[in-house]
Amino acid sequence: MDIHEYQAKELLANFGVPVPRGNVAYTADQAVYCAREIGGNRWVIKAQIHSGGRGQAGGVRICSTEHEVHAAAADLLGRTLVTKQTGPKGKLVQRLYIEAAVPIARELYVGFVLDRRAERVCVLATAEGGMEIEDIAAQRPDSLVREVIEPAVGMQAFQARELCFGLGLEATQVPDATRAILGAYRAFRDLDATMVEINPLAVTQDGHVLALDAKMQFDDNALFRRPTVRELRDYTEEDPREAEASKYGLNYVGLTGEIGCIVNGAGLAMATMDMIKLAGAEPANFLDVGGGASPERVAAAFRLVLSDPHVKVVLVNIFAGINRCDWVAQGVVQAARELSLTVPIIARLAGTNVDEGRRILKQSGLTITTADTLADAAAKAVEALHRVTLNGAEPRAQVHEHTH
Ligand code: GDP
Ligand code: MN
Repeated sequence: MDIHEYQAKELLANFGVPVPRGNVAYTADQAVYCAREIGGNRWVIKAQIHSGGRGQAGGVRICSTEHEVHAAAADLLGRTLVTKQTGPKGKLVQRLYIEAAVPIARELYVGFVLDRRAERVCVLATAEGGMEIEDIAAQRPDSLVREVIEPAVGMQAFQARELCFGLGLEATQVPDATRAILGAYRAFRDLDATMVEINPLAVTQDGHVLALDAKMQFDDNALFRRPTVRELRDYTEEDPREAEASKYGLNYVGLTGEIGCIVNGAGLAMATMDMIKLAGAEPANFLDVGGGASPERVAAAFRLVLSDPHVKVVLVNIFAGINRCDWVAQGVVQAARELSLTVPIIARLAGTNVDEGRRILKQSGLTITTADTLADAAAKAVEALHRVTLNGAEPRAQVHEHTH
């Protein structure tokens, strides 16, 4: 999960990382009010979108009057920013961060990542701040300084100081910078982050060290125990299909085929995709509805799979261990009614309450083809796809009855 810069700064400040004074604004009037509250006579107005490279895309404005603040805010809000990271569609600016501008002497880079090969948290720093780390790694790899954290003891003060010396900081700047680096490390560790990036970590003209930009990413699987982090999620920044999926605890990845898959268990979902390919077609998605899938969750899975216009057939494959076939069947029926489904459905149910599940499908009056084995289900799905593509979209009533 990603969060906004202003949210990352607030989290980092709680761990002692020095940041400029700032506040979030949703309207131009609020932006002026924030600037007035912050005081001084220079402010930075920053577009809050889940992307870096905002500066180059015109999303970071320095203002010296309240009038300029108002104009910059009005211009940015509602604008779609296209950065190097957003792709051509860009991202809509809905929030701004208003900060006291600081006079910059040097821009440094500090990043915390998980080095999977070393199985350690690793800190990367370079004096080439303001540049993207990928560019630095490609163009100036020799400028990178690196510290690997020993997990049993955590990051040590001497390691932070070593980074400071590697960055060419002066002795008077080291205490501030050490506080920033150790604070960011503790935030990374204690909040289950997977990435913390401060770019730039700025040295001001009066010799202070401040985080001017901050980016944090979090481990989705740890959000259950980090409610304060989970609250920061901004669904408007995410792929709507994947945001919808995560709302219902569904694990969904969109693909390009025509057979939509609703499966429980990631392994079975992969096997189902393989079997569809073996039978001669392509899956439209990966979807794991998870363990105890309630009828509501199955219905949500249907809506999600069918929101892809390429889907011509839906294959439901449930092996109910923790799950219950009757619940899955109820979900299928509920979704089929709600959406007045016109696509053929092939369902293979096995395991807990399978007889009850089949009975619900049969008595629903819906035309659902059932299958006994995975191979059988995949073959029937591909058969249905051929029928649909030969005849055009088939209305539900005309789908052949194959129910056992
Ligand atoms: P990004 O482009 O999305 O990474 O956004 P940043 O927050 O890193 O801002 C881009 C650039 O704007 C920084 O590298 C700085 O050069 C500049 N900038 C940001 N905040 C300030 C500030 O308070 N004062 C000054 N002078 N420049 C700033
Ligand atoms: Mn930046």
